[in-house]
Amino acid sequence: MSVRSRFAPSPTGYLHIGGARTALFAWLHARRHGGTFILRIEDTDRERSTEASVNAILEGMTWLGLNYDEGPFYQTQRFERYRDVLDQLLAAGHAYRCYCTPEDLAARREAQLARKEKPRYDGRCRHLDAPPPGEPPFVIRFRNPLDGDVVVDDLIRGRVPFSNTELDDLVLARTDGTPTYNFTVVVDDMDMGVSCVIRGDDHLNNTPRQLNILRALGAPAPQYAHVPMILGPDGARLSKRHGAVSVLQYRDDGILPEALLNYLVRLGWSHGDQEVFSLDELVALFDIEQVNRAAAAVNPEKLLWLNQHYLKTSDPEHVARHLSPFLGRHGVDPALDGPPLHEVVLALRERSKTLLEMADKALPFYREFDHYDPAAAAKHLTAEVIEPLLTLHTRFEQLEDWQAPQLHALVEEVAAQHGRKFGQLAQPLRVALCGNAVSPAIDVTLQLIGRGRVLGRLERAVQWLKNRDDA
Ligand code: GLU
Repeated sequence: MSVRSRFAPSPTGYLHIGGARTALFAWLHARRHGGTFILRIEDTDRERSTEASVNAILEGMTWLGLNYDEGPFYQTQRFERYRDVLDQLLAAGHAYRCYCTPEDLAARREAQLARKEKPRYDGRCRHLDAPPPGEPPFVIRFRNPLDGDVVVDDLIRGRVPFSNTELDDLVLARTDGTPTYNFTVVVDDMDMGVSCVIRGDDHLNNTPRQLNILRALGAPAPQYAHVPMILGPDGARLSKRHGAVSVLQYRDDGILPEALLNYLVRLGWSHGDQEVFSLDELVALFDIEQVNRAAAAVNPEKLLWLNQHYLKTSDPEHVARHLSPFLGRHGVDPALDGPPLHEVVLALRERSKTLLEMADKALPFYREFDHYDPAAAAKHLTAEVIEPLLTLHTRFEQLEDWQAPQLHALVEEVAAQHGRKFGQLAQPLRVALCGNAVSPAIDVTLQLIGRGRVLGRLERAVQWLKNRDDA
């Protein structure tokens, strides 16, 4: 049988990393087996579903590169199909109309609790021959088997048996006719030929109910893999108070998608002690059955470590494409003016953990800075550097080859000429060029900033020094 897996988010918020990890596992499972990956938007809860959330999910999937072969399917566009299946279940006696009012149900529930029984629907309308007088509103309930076991043979959790005596007659459609979650999932998984349901283990208790409905419909049962949840560093369920949890937030914080994917896959899955996996490797190695049963805790430092690893080792052109929007936030379009962005990536990638950080460091290559960092200026921009800076200006104007080795030799020579060590000239020059004392090697910095801007900034620094000393 061909492998068909799906990701079925409810669009009631952003795509959080728990959801993204489930999506990644389902995607890898399909890709590993040359199967099909389906995206289904479970938007039947109209109160809580929003278009913004649908868009955030689609955007997150695209950014992560989790491409789907079928979909996105929207459950709200399938109501007619759900109605047909309901009719089929009613006609076959697998479902029935229940006329119990919410008040009746609440009173009976109270009574069950008072008798110390587990509250559940007592099956009162199971055997009604005709509707009560006046045809009151009704819900449609599934006629769950009364005895026997339903066994979930979970690929991660192993064999999990449930007794039918624990399951009451589930509502399939509400009084307004809208189908419920457990029912739409069953119809969709059946219609879409899903062979393996990979989802969060908060759904494990729904699975026996869904299996019973599938059986009543004569549909084959898919395999199930319930993925444990993700915990915060403190061991509590991951939530916003632990920091970024939305995929797009990670993107905006300057994480590369391949770093996030690599990080997510390792939350619950491992292959020996290997930490870094290319996507191709993951497709070849990933096995849903090896996912850990225990919940995994996030580790923000590891994500930063992986991100830096990918910043350092990925194709600089690729990193540049992801970096460009971060410069855009500062109003800089690196394509218009300044050095090729991938060269800036090469110069900065050893010293940046995120794209955000890299963009900040890249700014001096593309635009003028506002002011000198006071501490750096106090330390390095002193009256004695005016002369060496002027010499540099003259020599830079005349230099034929504006390349790092030549620039290096030139700075060395001018330093010697003024009785300074290399660093004693390189640091003031750096502050003059970048506004602070941190930048890549001075020769690379000079090369990237380019002759025109370098000369302008030297003039500015000399002027600034003169003005200060005159004041
Ligand atoms: N829509 C459900 C959720 O977002 C997932 C249902 C499923 O995967 O079966 O939690």
